[in-house]
Amino acid sequence: MDNYECRACRSRGGEVVLDMGEQPACDYFPKYDEPGPDPVYPLQMWLCASCGLAQLLTDPTVPAEPRGAEPAALVEQAQDAVARVAAAGLLPAGARVAEYGSPHGGSWLDLLTARGLAPVADGDEADVIIDCFGMMHAADQAAAIAERAARLAPGGTLLLQFHSLAAIVRQGQWNALRHGHYAYYSATALTALLAGAGLRSCAAWRFSLYGGTVLLAACHDGDDRATRGPSETVRELLAEEAHVGITSPALAGGLQREVTAQGDALRGWLTAQRAAGRSVLGYAAASRAVALLCSAGVDADLLPAVVDASPAKRGLRMPGTAIPVVSPEELTAAPPDAVLVFVPDLIPEVRKAYPEIEAAGTVWVDTSALSGGF
Ligand SMILES: [Zn+2]
Repeated sequence: MDNYECRACRSRGGEVVLDMGEQPACDYFPKYDEPGPDPVYPLQMWLCASCGLAQLLTDPTVPAEPRGAEPAALVEQAQDAVARVAAAGLLPAGARVAEYGSPHGGSWLDLLTARGLAPVADGDEADVIIDCFGMMHAADQAAAIAERAARLAPGGTLLLQFHSLAAIVRQGQWNALRHGHYAYYSATALTALLAGAGLRSCAAWRFSLYGGTVLLAACHDGDDRATRGPSETVRELLAEEAHVGITSPALAGGLQREVTAQGDALRGWLTAQRAAGRSVLGYAAASRAVALLCSAGVDADLLPAVVDASPAKRGLRMPGTAIPVVSPEELTAAPPDAVLVFVPDLIPEVRKAYPEIEAAGTVWVDTSALSGGF
């Protein structure tokens, strides 16, 4: 670890702020009948003392997530974001657009072509570059931002959307940390990263997605917009982050306490449900559910199955446990007393999708409400 170099600024100074020990790869769902134990790998968040970027320390895993169903909340947020950026005049018809997508889906290209923007070929120059949860998947953050900066035409706009570290910390979302996600951005660290590539933050928009998502617009240093300075929202974000001490190890270190608190709360709640003879199923076989179940030591005796709408996950089990992933039909065939939802953004969607469950008396439970955290 002493030789570890920051993925953004190459500095060697920094520290581990969240240490999950050895965890199974959260994107490798074994077949249900594949015997464990599943291989485990170190999972740690490191905070750079120089540029303030929170990052995944090492990643010995190979990315392999079966692509899940896109949550409606993600699709709705994309529409909202595109409308807001367009209203700011940053998505002119005829502009050339490039997208750096996320392996988990959520492309904005259809929305942008519908507004008259023209997609360019891979590697070509573009007037608008969209990166929606894409860059966090790059192991070399300095190289990733340099590549985007090199493709951005003079006067162009780079739009970077990220799950905010300030929100992760504020809501105790320690299980945002996962293999394959190399960077956990604050507006502060991202602004430093942009500066290293000759780019400047000029505007920002906030969204409630994942408990706190930010879309940051950047332009070249020499651009008119750079000389006008950052927007009110950018200045607010930076001021709020400075106020809470977003680059201080003590702040991110609070996530470590949340691991224990949330694990205890989950296990305690499930144990009480079982003692009361109430049946419970999980919903959403997401990576954060994997981390939560593993750290809480919850297995199939407390949670007999996790429901997931993605056909790609049928016949598989939750990594590190014997808990099977089952289809929504099993939920509707025999509604349990409660369904524990691991992705709170999905709750409005599942209530709408399965009204018969609620009519049968099933309660949807937000995992984040169990410990008052997340
Ligand atoms: Zn750094």
